Amino acid sequence: MPRRKIIAGNWKMYKTIAEAVGFAYEFVAGAERVGHEIVICAPFTQLAPLKRAFSGSDVKLGAQNMHFADEGAYTGEISPAMLAEIGVDYCVIGHSERRQYFAETDGTVNQKLKAAFARGISPIVCVGEVLEERDAGKAFDVVKRQLEAGLSGVARSDAERLVVAYEPVWAIGTGRTATPEQAEEMCAFIRQTVGGLYDDGAAERVRIQYGGSVKPSNARELLTKADIDGALVGGASLSPADFKAIVEFDRRTNPGN
Ligand code: PGA
Repeated sequence: MPRRKIIAGNWKMYKTIAEAVGFAYEFVAGAERVGHEIVICAPFTQLAPLKRAFSGSDVKLGAQNMHFADEGAYTGEISPAMLAEIGVDYCVIGHSERRQYFAETDGTVNQKLKAAFARGISPIVCVGEVLEERDAGKAFDVVKRQLEAGLSGVARSDAERLVVAYEPVWAIGTGRTATPEQAEEMCAFIRQTVGGLYDDGAAERVRIQYGGSVKPSNARELLTKADIDGALVGGASLSPADFKAIVEFDRRTNPGN
């Protein structure tokens, strides 16, 4: 069975509730039914209002982070149970900004992955190297280590539901996109690594996104590569028109900017 493409917007710390709901109505009204799975990963306060705004549409809801415990004395944190109560479908885990600014490690990524699966939330786990690692020829080693540690002890039946986002840190928010060949090469390597950790069936099923300065003008060349099953889109997902153009990447004959 061919893998269904999954295109997720990562809003990061942008939009008020009013702006988020405004986006939802504009996006749903303008978007034709595409065959791809579409997800909006929003800040916590927007999740419940967005769940209502997207009801009746195909758009799925994602969080951008969560704690691994279901409850506890963790001031300021949000639990998987709290996200599940809202009806969140996905959760981004281990985004490089969380690794860089909020002390996320491969160990916490692993705990969060397991907690997400236990609550029926599908994780979008982010991996990717920084520029010095790429320049030093270590990109594949870094991504392999992140995958092996992140997936340690994760059951095969859960691994099938996993989404991996390959996000080279040097391409995030920089306007500098990985070339389709670089992105494809790493996504194929990720698939091979998942195959090594589990088996060929798991490798065939896992969906692998590329993220890092995806925009309407480059979405098609990235998303038509054999091992790239979708995109994790930051900046360009904030505009309904741009995000629509990205999710319709295979319908448009004349991609814009
Ligand atoms: P960008 O962000 O599309 O703005 O580069 C991608 C991400 O951080 O997920």
